[in-house]
Amino acid sequence: MDWEPAKQLLLSKAAEDRIWAYLELQQDLVFPKLAREQRWVYAAGALELGAQWAADFKGVDLLAAVGRRGLVLTTGDLGQRLRAAYAPGSITINRRALERICQALPAHFLTYQQLERATIAHEFFHALEEERGCVDRCFPAVTIWKLGPWRVRTARVRAVREIAAHRFAKELAALPCLPIFFDWFLLAESSPDFRSSLPQLIGEVEDLLKNSAT
Ligand SMILES: [Zn+2]
Repeated sequence: MDWEPAKQLLLSKAAEDRIWAYLELQQDLVFPKLAREQRWVYAAGALELGAQWAADFKGVDLLAAVGRRGLVLTTGDLGQRLRAAYAPGSITINRRALERICQALPAHFLTYQQLERATIAHEFFHALEEERGCVDRCFPAVTIWKLGPWRVRTARVRAVREIAAHRFAKELAALPCLPIFFDWFLLAESSPDFRSSLPQLIGEVEDLLKNSAT
């Protein structure tokens, strides 16, 4: 598939949060252990949670809220892909990765300022998790193996933290899509192999979505 039609396909689906949330969930190591009917519960629940946390900050100056928590904003080169990093006490923004996204997308799609704000908001969400507790605790743990009734090992679904952080960022920066979308967009731009699998991948997720709604 050529890049131009793939780009149009992706842009036409950009606003479909559930597709990108589901694909994020699919990256989680415990995804295969989730029952089929549970998967949407995690993806949709994480989207909802991110929106709820964002509602607490509507009308609040984001940078002031970041400062009030003692977080210092810095810039640093974190390579081509990683947009930012959070460590207790600081958020590092990787301008190079943000500029690359802006260059790849049509000019009307988003501004650098919006993307930077979303990136700060995403990392701020993880800082809030330290105060409020990690959001993966709001979802049932998954049994990853079981040997008899006593020897059971469970794991948390970490992807829900990312999905919620992306939704939080989307809301607070008024982005047209979840920031996860940018990763898939750049991957499609650089990989012809991935591009050729794109219509099928999106089609499969849309089918799941339809079936889960009925
Ligand atoms: Zn994150």
